[in-house]
Amino acid sequence: MPEGHTVRRLADRHRELFAGEPVAVTSPQGRFAEGAARISGAVLLDTEAYGKHLLHHYGDVSLHVHLGLYGKFADGDLPVPAPVGQIRLRMANPRHWLDLRGPTACELLDPPEVDALRARLGADPLRADAKPEQAYERIRRSDQALAALLLDQSVVAGTGLIFVLEALFRAGLAPTMPGRRLTPDGWRELWADLVDLMGKAVLSGRIDTVRPEHEPQAMGRPPRVDRHGGEVYVYRRPGLPCLACGTEVSRGELAGRNSYWCATCQKGAA
Ligand SMILES: [Zn+2]
Repeated sequence: MPEGHTVRRLADRHRELFAGEPVAVTSPQGRFAEGAARISGAVLLDTEAYGKHLLHHYGDVSLHVHLGLYGKFADGDLPVPAPVGQIRLRMANPRHWLDLRGPTACELLDPPEVDALRARLGADPLRADAKPEQAYERIRRSDQALAALLLDQSVVAGTGLIFVLEALFRAGLAPTMPGRRLTPDGWRELWADLVDLMGKAVLSGRIDTVRPEHEPQAMGRPPRVDRHGGEVYVYRRPGLPCLACGTEVSRGELAGRNSYWCATCQKGAA
């Protein structure tokens, strides 16, 4: 599933391509025909990313998209290609087209519904209006594992498995450490690191989390080959030596997801 940096990049791209002008909107597949008809011809005022949610604002109504596991956008210069496959939403102006396939959510929300969506989401490290202190209030009162809390979109929004596991490695904290054991300083550092890592990923379009001394060139090792790209410490590296200490990276299950960590570098396991 795309993490928050991908959704932020999409919001920025769609703003650049379409904002400030009327757009033609259709649903070649038909499943969003009614919604498309309602916004077609309206001016796209702005776009917004909040966690893994994308919003296109049209004034009295907003398009809400959540890509989920299979959703994908594609765009290009005109002419619009003939529809192939299940295109839920197609948008175009006199220069560009945009297609959306396979999203978990593609719906119109009125302003109170947009407010309700924002209200149920936690602190987004990529947003200037984020309130990390509210996230910490949830974390410090919880017996749940840190990794599960950081993946809970009502606590922190936009973080997925890669950012969470990598930030915990960089902080030296075990994914299973109960939230209540995280100190205020520990949270400040962890939050600042998420802001930094995710901000860099918005710029580069990939998730890189290793420090300069652990980069391939510095260590004389080959670059990582993985469809997720990016240089990482523990994510999907079970059994491989930890880049910092050489211990084999561990794998376990946590909140129904795979979890990866270094048992030597990361402390505080429950
Ligand atoms: Zn290690």
